[in-house]
Amino acid sequence: MTSIEDLETPSLLLDRGRLTHNAARLRGRLAHLGVPLRPHLKTAKSIDVARLVMDRPTGPAMVSTLKEAEVFAHFGLRDLLYAVGVTPSKLDRVAAIRARGVDLCVIVDNLTAARAVAEKARDTGDRIPVLIEIDSDGHRCGVLPSEAALLVEIGRTLHEGGAELRGITTHAGESYACRSIAELEAMAEQERSAAVSCAEILRASGLPSPVVGVGSTPTAHFARDLSGITEVHAGVFMFFDLVMAGLGVCTIDEIALSVLATVVGHRTQKGALFVDAGWMALSRDRGTAGQAADQGYGLVCDINGKPYRDLVVRAANQEHGELGIRAGSDAPLPDLRIGDLVRILPNHACATGAQHDRYHVVDDASSRFVRDVWPRFGGW
Ligand code: PLP
Repeated sequence: MTSIEDLETPSLLLDRGRLTHNAARLRGRLAHLGVPLRPHLKTAKSIDVARLVMDRPTGPAMVSTLKEAEVFAHFGLRDLLYAVGVTPSKLDRVAAIRARGVDLCVIVDNLTAARAVAEKARDTGDRIPVLIEIDSDGHRCGVLPSEAALLVEIGRTLHEGGAELRGITTHAGESYACRSIAELEAMAEQERSAAVSCAEILRASGLPSPVVGVGSTPTAHFARDLSGITEVHAGVFMFFDLVMAGLGVCTIDEIALSVLATVVGHRTQKGALFVDAGWMALSRDRGTAGQAADQGYGLVCDINGKPYRDLVVRAANQEHGELGIRAGSDAPLPDLRIGDLVRILPNHACATGAQHDRYHVVDDASSRFVRDVWPRFGGW
């Protein structure tokens, strides 16, 4: 069996024990609240990971690109939600995926897209299912809950135009900016109540809304009540990352993804060590920059996955990462030699994962053996 010491670096490591634990943790929470999980597979882009986090081999699941929908359809998934507003130019591809027997649902938040989906449904004789995206937190796209007339007009355009109006969806992306558990709980309730009230607006107008979906990893972990919600959407929960740890959603010990890197140089005069993992391997994501603990481009751990005290990737070039002690800390620079290996925990698991084409799967944080190699895909 290959040891991680034999891998070329940088390489992406996936801790299967933590992945399984993280999936069970959210699943258990949601089971307690009585709502099923629709995992967002954009985080993993891997059929092997998908199979570990889904209820069944056929789904349900969520995707962020039509490429993901096509790849996962190829591997037998049949219940997919494409959760980026659909455009008229993408409807041929949507129709082709649906023609393969996949229940691919799309989302819209405007009349142009709603009319295009309805027209495609009439042309193909296939009632394309649609969720109306609402903006529950001012974060991104979506019909505002205050725009009831627009919501109903979009709903009617779909329902009476030949498509299948399936309901409402929202994603509280602003939860990433919460600063306390109380704020996270309040954000989860805001997300829930906005989605439920929009579904009620549709129903009061005689329109169907069997599905009411919400979710982000922070709100999914802090919702205390999900009354009126039929499914929860979450993605980064499977791997977790430093942003989630900074928010208090997970601990550092639950982060399943790390980048294995080799020490390639020293500059002790300025307290720096260099590794062969720069932003190409770690991504440019600086999601912890605004958090209480700025982790630079990643938190550095030893070969066994134990974090060095306050050692972060403080600068990143394309293929160089500069390691240094966090400002204000009196921690010593570890005595790492050229050729020594470290594991770097990512700020944002989706972004770091996207820099790699495979996962090297280890059993647990301290395991040195690569049990499996799982391919990972990209593109649109
Ligand atoms: N729903 C939508 C529309 C999203 O874009 C995302 C992530 O970007 C999610 C759900 C899942 O959020 P998270 O990765 O925080 O679990």
